[in-house]
Amino acid sequence: MTLAILSALHDEQRGLIEQLYQPYRTLHAGREFWQGQLQGHPVVLALSKIGKVAAATTATALIEKFGARRIVFTGVAGGIGPGVQVGDIVVAHQLVQHDLDASPLFPRFEVPFYGQSGFTADPQLTEQLLQACRAAMVALGQPGKVHHGLLASGDQFVSCAQAAHTLRRDLALAGHDALAVEMEGAAVAQVCHDYGLPFAAVRTISDRADASAHVDFKVFARDVASRYACAIVQALLKSLSIQ
Ligand code: SAH
Repeated sequence: MTLAILSALHDEQRGLIEQLYQPYRTLHAGREFWQGQLQGHPVVLALSKIGKVAAATTATALIEKFGARRIVFTGVAGGIGPGVQVGDIVVAHQLVQHDLDASPLFPRFEVPFYGQSGFTADPQLTEQLLQACRAAMVALGQPGKVHHGLLASGDQFVSCAQAAHTLRRDLALAGHDALAVEMEGAAVAQVCHDYGLPFAAVRTISDRADASAHVDFKVFARDVASRYACAIVQALLKSLSIQ
């Protein structure tokens, strides 16, 4: 059962390609897809590029063309929940599109004709991912926390404390307690929902979505993101059965 590991940025994925056994690269839909094996598991690695549409295109190609039967997103995000600090990890329980607003036709954040705003990540894969993240923190010798909760996705790089506050407050008014903000996860969750395939997502916190976010993000992405992604994926693969 092919596992897809999806990231938005090269820095988030770099180390994984280096470890791929019998790597086979395909160019499709303007993206590189890397098929091969990691720890004996058939995998396909892909970079979505940034944003919800780019992520949805990539997830669809992973499923339709590369036989992905479950998708795990690994990447970085801005922490907006209280106590969600740079270097922490957030594993998604649910994902919501914070910029989706078809009100007054539908409640704010609700995906029209789905009757829901949040997509829940696959419980079993998510539990395995949580355990993998805890193991990865130990392996990396990092003091950061592993959180489990809501990821908010939208087509905005949030780099202003006031904007982050407003976004969190508006989501809270609709009953959503967002821990981190990013730009792809909820789109992939919706695609996996449509295909009935398991999805899980993990984000390492690169910044606090405030005025220094663009600097913090760049440093973190370059220096730390790929080490986290490798350690988490390695630990996850140990717990997945090979099928
Ligand atoms: N110009 C930047 C673009 C980065 S976009 C560059 O140098 O490449 C940020 C990426 O990291 C997105 O893929 C998003 O999912 C995630 N991300 C990290 N911090 C974020 C934040 N504060 N707001 C939104 N997305 C964030």
